Formats: sequence, C-alpha cells, structure tokens
Amino acid sequence: MDRQDRIKRLLNYKNLLYQLQNLGFVKVFSDNIADALGVSSSLVRKDFAIFGIAGSQKGGYEIASILAKINNILGKNQVQKVILIGVGRLGTAFLQYGKGFTDEGIKIVAGFDIDPGKIDEKAAVPIYPMSNLADFIRDNDIKFAIVTVPESASRQVIDILKAEKIQGILNFTSLKIKSTDETIINNVNIEHELARLIYNVNQKNKEPHD
Ligand code: ATP
Repeated sequence: MDRQDRIKRLLNYKNLLYQLQNLGFVKVFSDNIADALGVSSSLVRKDFAIFGIAGSQKGGYEIASILAKINNILGKNQVQKVILIGVGRLGTAFLQYGKGFTDEGIKIVAGFDIDPGKIDEKAAVPIYPMSNLADFIRDNDIKFAIVTVPESASRQVIDILKAEKIQGILNFTSLKIKSTDETIINNVNIEHELARLIYNVNQKNKEPHD
C-alpha cells in the first residue's frame, strides 16, 4: 500500500514538474513541490531519496533530471505492452482509446474474446480467440492485462492470466479479486466509485454552511 501511495505521488510530482517546466522553471525546491501538492517537504525529500533522486540543499532539484528519473521509474521510456480480455462495450472503448495511452507509454497490443463474432485479427488492435492467449503472452512477453469480461467470467479469466504468469491485472468486473505474491490485481469498480462519490457529495451538502 505504501509503495502504491508513493507511485501515486510520483505521478503528481511528474504532472506538477511538467507544469513548472512549461512555465520556464529549471529548478525547484522540495518546499515548492510540497506546497503545491499539499504534502510535507520532508515526505517529498524522502520519496526522492528512496527513488535515488538527488538534489542539493542550496540549489534545489533540477526539474529535467527529476522528470527523467521519474519517467524511468514509471517505465515510461519503454512501452508497456498490455492485453485486454473481453471486447464488449467497455473493452472496445479501451481499444479505441489508443492515443491517450500511447502518451503514457502504454500500448494495448491485442484484445481477446470468447465470442467468435468479436474476433478481428486484421483490426488496428487485433482481436484474437482465447485459444491464442497463452502463446501470445509468451511470444510477446506480456506482463499486464485489462479484464473487461462480465462478472460471471472474471474469476476464470483471471485464473488463466495468473497461470500464464501475467504480473499485473486491471480488473473492471464487479468481482473484487485479491492480489497474490505473483500477480498484482487492481480492482476498479466504477459503480462503487460513483456510489462513493455521490455519498461524499451528499454528506458535504448536509454540512451546515457558514
Ligand atoms: P456487448 O454485449 O456489446 O458485448 P458488454 O460489455 O455489455 O457488451 P459483456 O457481457 O459485459 O458485454 O461482455 C464483455 C465481453 O466479454 C463480451 O465481448 C464477451 O464476449 C466477452 N466474454 C465473456 N466471457 C468471456 C470469457 N470467458 N473469456 C473471454 N471473453 C469473454
């Protein structure tokens, strides 16, 4: 969890540093980053130290070199190949969102589906039958998968992905599946997120106003 939080902060640092760079800044102090992001400057320094980002007390940090380091850590300099299982409406939306992901160094290289009617090996992002999955993962050294099958199929599909040594899964089904030592599973339940958001907004509206 701690590492996950740190990675989230790295993404925030990255966005802020790009903004500062666009404004013409070359150097930045941990205090500036801390103030802008609402965290303590000691936390910023600790994060940077953990990731081997060096700065000097007097001169602060060089923005370009922190960005290079962060992009390296986030694996942005190498394209991360991702496959998608379940080419329904949500899955199709992801496949068509190619450009947005490419900017982040992520490429969905193939979709897989159990329905023969969905197979399209000549599409911009080819869609293959499930029988091709194991070979594709091995031949292309795939480590990441997005799962957009219906809930009823999610456990079975995730078991197949685990057996094929997929290391990271983004699970969009409503079934919450636990990570294991070998496979990190991030569960994204859009319905729950919306319900939580609505609850929070309603709670806020109930608070007495000044
Ligand atoms: P649509 O009905 O248009 O396909 P949808 O998103 O509502 O869209 P879902 O029932 O959620 O459809 O299924 C999503 C996709 O997952 C479908 O294309 C379906 O064929 C596929 N799918 C279902 N079970 C499996 C499975 N076991 N392995 C791989 N793909 C599957």
